[in-house]
Amino acid sequence: MPSSSKRDYYEVLSVGRSAAPEEIKSAYRKAALQWHPDRNPDNKSQAEEKFREATEAYSVPSDPQKRQIYDAYGHAGISSAGAGGFQGVDFSIFDGLQDILGDFFQVEDVFGFGGRRGRGRRAQRGADLRYDVTLSFEEAATGKRLKIRVPRTEACETCQGTGAKPGSSPTACSACGGRGQRTYQQGFFAVTRTCPQCQGAGRVIRDPCTQCDGAGRVQRQRTLEVEIPAGVDTGMRVRLPGEGEMGTMGGPSGDLYVVVEVREHPFFERKGSDLFCTIPITVPQAALGTEIRLPGLRGEEKLKIPEGTQSGHVFRLKGKGLPSPHGHGNGDLYARVHVEVPEKLTREQRRLMEELAATLSPDNAPAERSSSLFDKVKDMFG
Ligand SMILES: [Zn+2]
Ligand SMILES: [Zn+2]
Repeated sequence: MPSSSKRDYYEVLSVGRSAAPEEIKSAYRKAALQWHPDRNPDNKSQAEEKFREATEAYSVPSDPQKRQIYDAYGHAGISSAGAGGFQGVDFSIFDGLQDILGDFFQVEDVFGFGGRRGRGRRAQRGADLRYDVTLSFEEAATGKRLKIRVPRTEACETCQGTGAKPGSSPTACSACGGRGQRTYQQGFFAVTRTCPQCQGAGRVIRDPCTQCDGAGRVQRQRTLEVEIPAGVDTGMRVRLPGEGEMGTMGGPSGDLYVVVEVREHPFFERKGSDLFCTIPITVPQAALGTEIRLPGLRGEEKLKIPEGTQSGHVFRLKGKGLPSPHGHGNGDLYARVHVEVPEKLTREQRRLMEELAATLSPDNAPAERSSSLFDKVKDMFG
């Protein structure tokens, strides 16, 4: 339904924009009772439409937070705020509606959810769990098999999750015939309510398991093994399907997520699978060339510095970075050279420097600079 065609919620409920919560509540009650489809047998579809409209309208101004958004941005604000549900109706509202409307009818029935949603307990997936681990840089580089202890809810082993003492089993509830709900006739209305005997479960346990007191579930510390792949980075998660909390009423278990944090390395910086580092070299090393040893991830790496290497030059050591945790090969290692100019010279060194300086000519300058801005600026001072 495009929001432009929607009627103003206050208008639907026939209340002013500053109406107090009590006023909104009683306006909705009035509209709901007037338009309940069971009360309008000759005009069912229109009544249903009106009933839905009123319920949707009520779901917004009755919630202080949604009301504030609606007052400021209108329908657009509500739909973008993710009100969710059926045509913008947040179903959590139904519990509150039952209090307003009393026991006359199930609001869900009007929306066609009576049978499916009901008020009974349903199978539900268990909650996901999160476990945080911190790895050293080296552990992250090589990968690691970890043992972790996770507290979680599991099916009771004694009763296999049924809650019934071994040898016995839960029986269908006699009050509701196992449906979890009972239907009562009240005047015009057929009222469906959660069965009071089994609380909607549809089964009763006559002889509860002593291990779990009939709950069918117990709290356990479980030791699990996790394979952390080589090359993981901070923020990555390893998923262990089905290792979360157990579900209810036969629903599947949730998942366990191991969330990784990797400590920084004193020498290497990483970006994805690539490594970056800075290597200090002396002026003669840069000018004459040399071979240096780098503390690589897999032992020492040799790096040949050719003569005439400039400060800031970056050497790429292909494949010497971290492995990709997704199996896409290795990253590279980038080594940036920093030429250190000595801060203090002995008299002898100073004399040698001066001697060197006297012999240097423009021909000694790096090739890329010979026709550069530097020369032009030098000429200006020439
Ligand atoms: Zn048990
Ligand atoms: Zn029952």
